[in-house]
Amino acid sequence: MQIHWHRRDLRAVDNAGLAAAATAGTDDEVVPVFVFDDDVLTHAAPPRVAFMLDALASLRAWYRDRESDLVVVRGDPAEVLPDLADRYDATAVTWGEDYSGLANERDARVRLALDEVDVDRRVVTDSVLHEPGSITTNAGEPYSVFTYYGRKWQDRPKDDPYEPPEGSTLADVSGDPLPSLEALGFDEPVAEIPTADPAAARERLMAFCDGPIYEYEDLRDVPATENTSRLSPHLKFGTLGIREVYAATEAAKDGATEEQVESVETYQSELAWREFYLQVLATNPETVAQNFKEYERPIDWRNDPQEFEAWKAGETGYPFVDAGMRQLRQEAFVHNRLRMVVASFLTKDLLIDWRRGYEWFHARLVDHDTASDVGGWQWAASTGTDAQPYFRVFNPTTQGERYDPDAEYITEYVPELRGVEPATIHQWPGLSATQRRNVAPEYPDPIVDHGKRREAAIAAFEAARGDS
Ligand SMILES: Cc1cc2nc3c(=O)[nH]c(=O)nc-3n(C[C@H](O)[C@H](O)[C@H](O)COP(=O)(O)OP(=O)(O)OC[C@H]3O[C@@H](n4cnc5c(N)ncnc54)[C@H](O)[C@@H]3O)c2cc1C
Repeated sequence: MQIHWHRRDLRAVDNAGLAAAATAGTDDEVVPVFVFDDDVLTHAAPPRVAFMLDALASLRAWYRDRESDLVVVRGDPAEVLPDLADRYDATAVTWGEDYSGLANERDARVRLALDEVDVDRRVVTDSVLHEPGSITTNAGEPYSVFTYYGRKWQDRPKDDPYEPPEGSTLADVSGDPLPSLEALGFDEPVAEIPTADPAAARERLMAFCDGPIYEYEDLRDVPATENTSRLSPHLKFGTLGIREVYAATEAAKDGATEEQVESVETYQSELAWREFYLQVLATNPETVAQNFKEYERPIDWRNDPQEFEAWKAGETGYPFVDAGMRQLRQEAFVHNRLRMVVASFLTKDLLIDWRRGYEWFHARLVDHDTASDVGGWQWAASTGTDAQPYFRVFNPTTQGERYDPDAEYITEYVPELRGVEPATIHQWPGLSATQRRNVAPEYPDPIVDHGKRREAAIAAFEAARGDS
């Protein structure tokens, strides 16, 4: 027997590890396994555990349709996997590589434990098209600027998607029922969680590649158009394979105009950003908690608790910022433009440490991915690699006017402002208190003056640089 250990690859199609296990030996059948690891669960949050349980249910159904099953166990993988290898008389365990610091430590322990009982392991590249460390400068150094990395990433040949295993290669096993959210120690998420079913994810990918991808370049920053793929939770949990996603985008280029091809390539470069941030974190694991960019002196964060609460609640009196924060509460997801705007508002206008914003996203996002989340926060806070320069502070009002001119996105998430003229919504922070009371008495006054806070933020960063 061969064991395939599912981790961030909760699917059967285009699964490099599963394909490797299924083709390893002529008579060897595959036992699919998932381990609920308490160390990993400590870092989880309700939206993601709910999504993961849904994904596991779909995966189990896929195996059961083929007279096999997903064996589900709770425990420490370094203990569980040697036991399972013994129970099923398995000669090898396969898995797809994961690159976070936590995963590295766990996998090192699992390797040792399997060595001790003489079970082989096969570790394959699955969740990325190009592994961290495979795209470097000519001197072999990791890139810290995206443009050069992205160019090489685009030019490199990519693997084709893997076929799912034949039913005849799967072992006739049966697993215990999946635990509930409650049994795993989590409450129901407050937000609406998207379905994790790989078939639904595939439909979403195909629909996106059938039209919206051609307008991605023009519309990806306009949140009301919903013109992005919303594939991030699927890429996080591997309910869709990255090769399948990439192949669908390549197929979208067939017969497309030059402009449409450019739009597809803009989308592909976002997939490259995902892998860029992954290699930044893999090479600099300490940046999960430390600034990537070193300043002469510590940044003098204000960290005002009331302002932080207002930001979390979407009650800052800056309509575009509040809409983003309320989308997070409602959907466990935020549009990318808004992630940038709310992160800039927190770290610059409020001068609150990016790590606090990261923690809130970590607790709330269904697609939280350590590398992209840290990368996004450090970009906004001007502490990251290839980050926003400290003196370029987003103006939350002009951002709203530019990317949500008719205030459609804002009014979707901020009901107090429904029925108010878009121009008045955008001017909200500049209206007099009486005007605000007349127009939308339920919506809060601005908690800060952007102009003044912008200057204060620049001064704080200049002090940290040692300029003053
Ligand atoms: C402060 C901040 C925090 C973020 N936290 C996360 C996170 O926890 N998890 C996460 O997946 N993304 C994160 N992002 C990146 C980005 O906002 C999301 O990937 C994107 O909004 C997901 O929506 P989508 O799938 O519709 O994206 P699309 O625009 O359709 O992009 C397709 C895919 O490309 C990848 N991608 C797109 N933009 C980025 C980016 N800037 N960085 C890295 N990968 C990208 C994602 O995998 C995404 O699913 C963060 C960005 C910021 C500014």
